[in-house]
Amino acid sequence: MAAQNMDQLVSLCKRRGFIFGGSEIYGGLQGTFDYGPLGVELKNNLKKLWWQHNVYERDDMEGIDCAILMNRRVWQYSGHEETFVDPLVDCKTCKGRFRADKLQDGTCLKHPKMHPGECEGELTEPRAFNMMFKTAVGPLADPESFAYLRPETAQGIFVNFKNVVDSTNRKIPFGIAQIGKSFRNEITPRNFIFRVREFEQMEIEYFVRPGEDEAVHEQWIEDHVNFWVNEVGLKRENLNLYEVPAAELAHYSKRTVDLMYKFPIGWEELEGIANRTDYDLGSHSREQSKLGLTATVKENEHSTEKLTYFDQPNNKHIVPYVIEPSAGVDRGVLAALCEAYDEETLENGEVRTVLRLKPSLSPIKVAVLPLKKNADEIVTLAKRIKNELQASGEMRSVYDDSAGIGKLYRRQDEIGTPFCVTVDFDSLGRGDDVSQKDTVTIRDRDTMQQHRIPIAELATYVRSRI
Ligand code: ATP
Repeated sequence: MAAQNMDQLVSLCKRRGFIFGGSEIYGGLQGTFDYGPLGVELKNNLKKLWWQHNVYERDDMEGIDCAILMNRRVWQYSGHEETFVDPLVDCKTCKGRFRADKLQDGTCLKHPKMHPGECEGELTEPRAFNMMFKTAVGPLADPESFAYLRPETAQGIFVNFKNVVDSTNRKIPFGIAQIGKSFRNEITPRNFIFRVREFEQMEIEYFVRPGEDEAVHEQWIEDHVNFWVNEVGLKRENLNLYEVPAAELAHYSKRTVDLMYKFPIGWEELEGIANRTDYDLGSHSREQSKLGLTATVKENEHSTEKLTYFDQPNNKHIVPYVIEPSAGVDRGVLAALCEAYDEETLENGEVRTVLRLKPSLSPIKVAVLPLKKNADEIVTLAKRIKNELQASGEMRSVYDDSAGIGKLYRRQDEIGTPFCVTVDFDSLGRGDDVSQKDTVTIRDRDTMQQHRIPIAELATYVRSRI
């Protein structure tokens, strides 16, 4: 049985050290979460898979890692200062503040079982609320020091477009990938790590000639459906493509297709794949109007860098069009957890919780367990095996002797460890069957099947399956 509601996941994540509420000991800070020992491994594994798929396995991609704090002008000319807003309403009775287009996500402060609008409280007319976090850079809080924390990683890529072209000699079509933190002062953060105020994004800006954008957009949509299915292990039937209606498109978008995942809270966005046209590079370039290109920008107001591209085959300067696949790391982690969560009733009637994560995502690849924790030689051998597996740098391994073997297996099932290795007297050549010397039992998380394997073959066996 898969996860039926978010509470099951929240409880597992807290109990086993995947994810904790932010600033918990001081009552928390709404919309922030901390990744614990297992969560950080899972999250890093997802980011690694994404980078591998989008950067290393292609020959038309570069990576970048930009500053979170950026000059305020970036956000003025990107359009975010004016348009990165959500509609906010106040309740005149309970004094709560809610997102007008997501009242279902809000809770009346007087009647916690009701959504705003369902109770007697009267709501104000919606007004625009800008979601960017403000800060001051430097010791003086004057207008010059005013800055925003970035609400998307994309702008760092746009403002470095020329740097990357000049330093790598890339020709379009090509793309730049970035993984990093973004911040949005969401009106109603909720649903665990689904909607938070500090999160990570995995974004690509892929630059093409105008006219080639629509076909390339389709390719990225198909490629990223395949990524979530084949690499992350989401079931295809749990993914849907949502064509964002024209009235809901972001200010820069010609077309956006949202990749929706069937979370326990319903179908919600996991990734947005947008055609951002020449909007951003155009806006950042003060040379725009001189070149007679389409975007309407005022001269001298904008960045002094010319973010155009000299298209040699056509012998002219152009502003490339941009296709942007933009996914949330945290929503990716949540989707992977939802998909993997299973409560299985065994033949003996016992229920085991098992996270059927793809082995490549599992925080721990191998748990090495001694059959008897009081037998020194078994413990020594088990620890040696664990250290040798881990020394390869390819597989996080743990040694655990804190409970009986049945309980240890259940613990590893619950955190998604694909393999448990048990060391016993046979491994030492001191059991009933001396031919089993230098072998161990390896147990598969999903089937619970066990078999003997020579210790010398363990690393190769596990490596080939993760
Ligand atoms: P939503 O409609 O859910 O607010 P969005 O359309 O504003 O999302 P984008 O601006 O397209 O989101 O951002 C790209 C991706 O970043 C989203 O698909 C999502 O995975 C992630 N993301 C955006 N906002 C948040 C958030 N507040 N918390 C966690 N992840 C987020």
